[in-house]
Amino acid sequence: MKLPKTTKRLCPYCKKHTTHTIKNQTFKGLNKTHTMSRGSKPRVKARGLRRGTGNLGRFSKKAMGSWKRYGKKQTKKTDLRYTCKECGKTHMQKKGTRTKRVEFT
Ligand SMILES: [Zn+2]
Repeated sequence: MKLPKTTKRLCPYCKKHTTHTIKNQTFKGLNKTHTMSRGSKPRVKARGLRRGTGNLGRFSKKAMGSWKRYGKKQTKKTDLRYTCKECGKTHMQKKGTRTKRVEFT
C-alpha cells in the first residue's frame, strides 16, 4: 500500500482542514503497551514474586493461539496516526485496511 507523507485532513482540534503528516504505528510489544499485564516483569516485581522457584506467577503453557490455532493471517491492519502541522496533535484513523506493508512516497 502506497501512501503520501502528507495530506490535507480535517483536524478535530482546530476544526478545519490542515496539512497532516502520516505515520504507521508499529506494535511495540506487550511489555510496553500493557505494562501491568499478567506475567509482565513490573507486575511480577510489584507482587513481590521475584524470589524462589517456579515460573513467578506466569502461565505454565503459552497462549492457545500460538500452538493450537493455525491459519494465521498473512496481513496486518494499518494503524495510521495523523499529526496536525498547526497544533501538533495526533489523531487516529477510523478503520484499518489489511496490507502486507505500508510505503510512504
Ligand atoms: Zn490541528
